[in-house]
Amino acid sequence: MEGKHEQLPAKAQRILRSNTSSVGSGPLGSFFTGLDQSAVQHLKLDGGEASGAEGMAFVLRHRTASTAQSTEETTSGSHNYLTATECPSENGSLLDSDAQKRKAELENRGEEEPEQEERASGDEGFMGMTPLLQAHHAMEKMEEFVHKVWEGRWRVIPHDVLPDWLKDNDFLLHGHRPPMPSFRACFKSIFRIHTETGNIWTHLLGCLFFLFLGLMYMFRPNMSFVAPVQEKVVIGTFFLGAILCLSFSWLFHTVYCHSEGVSKVFSKLDYSGIAFLIMGSFVPWLYYSFWCSPQPCLIYSLVILVLGLAAIFVSQCDFFATPQYRGVRAGVFVGLGLSGVVPSLHFVISEGLIKATTIGQMGWLFLMATLYITGACLYAARIPERFFPGKCDIWFHSHQLFHILVVAGAFVHFHGVSNLQEFRYTVGAGCAAEGNL
Ligand SMILES: [Zn+2]
Repeated sequence: MEGKHEQLPAKAQRILRSNTSSVGSGPLGSFFTGLDQSAVQHLKLDGGEASGAEGMAFVLRHRTASTAQSTEETTSGSHNYLTATECPSENGSLLDSDAQKRKAELENRGEEEPEQEERASGDEGFMGMTPLLQAHHAMEKMEEFVHKVWEGRWRVIPHDVLPDWLKDNDFLLHGHRPPMPSFRACFKSIFRIHTETGNIWTHLLGCLFFLFLGLMYMFRPNMSFVAPVQEKVVIGTFFLGAILCLSFSWLFHTVYCHSEGVSKVFSKLDYSGIAFLIMGSFVPWLYYSFWCSPQPCLIYSLVILVLGLAAIFVSQCDFFATPQYRGVRAGVFVGLGLSGVVPSLHFVISEGLIKATTIGQMGWLFLMATLYITGACLYAARIPERFFPGKCDIWFHSHQLFHILVVAGAFVHFHGVSNLQEFRYTVGAGCAAEGNL
């Protein structure tokens, strides 16, 4: 075991040291505590149901054997323990290939799989162990777990065996990543299929799209603008908000399973990113809509800055990220976005509805608000997975739909803003005696 430990890269060894220093604490410790208590209730070892104690006993039974053969079986036994938490296959069996091979070998030899008797003796062995020995075995399991994660040999697990800090949506029954305290493993998981795959890719691709669009806009010739530097800074604020929001989001969904601490830090960045997107969206819209009324433009900009900072401040509280506050989170950001109703009404009242919907691009703004609010409602109510628990685990669950609607909403907003910019370019920098535009 020591030799195996030394083969690990230095970083993995550090993870191990930090997790084995106190069994039951740290990202791995909490995962194994969770497994010992509830996860193994779902284990099916050797094709039969096994209780938590039996699961543990199964591992230890092989470990305590002293022959060379037992050393080999130790690995396969603990491998079962680590991988038997994967989603059930169609016939409901949780056997992995090693266990299946072993069972087939025994059947060929006409031997019965060692059943209850041996299991009972395993139980006794486990129960008879000193706490120190039990802790030692727990550490060995952790070491193997880090090894497997490091090598990318993890499998998806069902919701009810997740540690509490990874339990977010109990309508997604299967296909979750296990806790993986390695950034390398988390980033490699981008290319695997699990509950977060859609969440990661929707915002990763969205981020690249806005990065490309933003660069195109920034490199447009200055002759396409009436105030090139100012306009590029203002539109650049929107792109910065969108890129920050989408990149914080895909990063959060990628490293969410790393550990409780990392998940907390990135969830705060994720929520702050939504506030950045909303604040960044207001800037060019207010700038062009109140081109000829700088005072209201400045006041509304300051108001959204203060409200956005308040939302970022609330996002830093630990309670804000908990599943119970899902509705509150949706409410805070919908409220922040809806603060745009005041400048919109101001614009409609002073310019008239027709001018507001044509030149003022209110139709596009209304569509953007509809997309964002629909996304927030799906997110808060967890639709559609609430109606089809276990059917939307990988694709089309509420969070993915919410992500798609956010990218669509941001693009619709950009379209409206670029129409406003085009209008400004067409009429020139000058202002009529009255009006905001
Ligand atoms: Zn998200």
